Amino acid sequence: MQREDQRAMNALRQYRFVPDVAPQALSSVLISTGRTQVICAVSLDDSQPRWKKIQDITGGWVTAEYNMLPYSTVPRKKRDSAGKVDGRSVEIQRLIGRSLRSVMDMEALGERTLWVDCDVLCADGGTRTASITGSAVALAIAVRRLMRQGLLETNPMRQLVAAVSVGKLEGEPLLDLCYVEDRDAEVDMNVVMTEREEYVEVQGSGEEAVFTATEMTEMLGLASKGIRELIAAQRRVIDEVCPAQS
Ligand code: UDP
Repeated sequence: MQREDQRAMNALRQYRFVPDVAPQALSSVLISTGRTQVICAVSLDDSQPRWKKIQDITGGWVTAEYNMLPYSTVPRKKRDSAGKVDGRSVEIQRLIGRSLRSVMDMEALGERTLWVDCDVLCADGGTRTASITGSAVALAIAVRRLMRQGLLETNPMRQLVAAVSVGKLEGEPLLDLCYVEDRDAEVDMNVVMTEREEYVEVQGSGEEAVFTATEMTEMLGLASKGIRELIAAQRRVIDEVCPAQS
């Protein structure tokens, strides 16, 4: 099978991280992977979420919002009006939030909330995985900046996290699906993994076809390879934008 962009079955799309595209945010990153582009921005709110206060739970919180901009797709996607977010976006933003919280120490964050906004500029498959990978970079830069400002004593981000999609198309396992591949795939799986190669979430479903344990292992192997490469790239951009203080 030949992929649309001639890439190998086990290759990621070309990716790039452009930092600080939204200067008013505490940190921001434009992640692109192939044609998919997402802006991930972190804002600081100096208070705990209401539910934590009410339940008298100490520590902070990290929460995410996800949105596809109207022009991110053809035909145009109608803009969500206030209070009316589509089910898919809700599902995706909860996944992003869970993924980021899995690597954060809420006690070390203190009584503050970090809002992570993911806005899709161009959707060509893998927007949820790009959102997670880009947000982790923005979050790492945000906490380093808070440490420099003397607002945090210890770094609450224990390690990095990234995500990628894998799938099975014409019986072959493949890494990092673009929209056309995602549409035609027999199996589509989103994998979220930490720097220590622990799974945070695996969302796999066979709609057109089912998959065996061997095929799943093969797809997870591809995902690990992709995520290792993404985490190395995340590390480089974070250190470039905000070198760790000794
Ligand atoms: N898509 C779209 N409009 C929508 C939802 C999805 O154009 O309202 C396209 C878009 O290219 C997206 C792809 O379908 O990236 C795959 O969507 P999915 O729900 O699998 O999420 P993703 O792969 O982006 O995480």
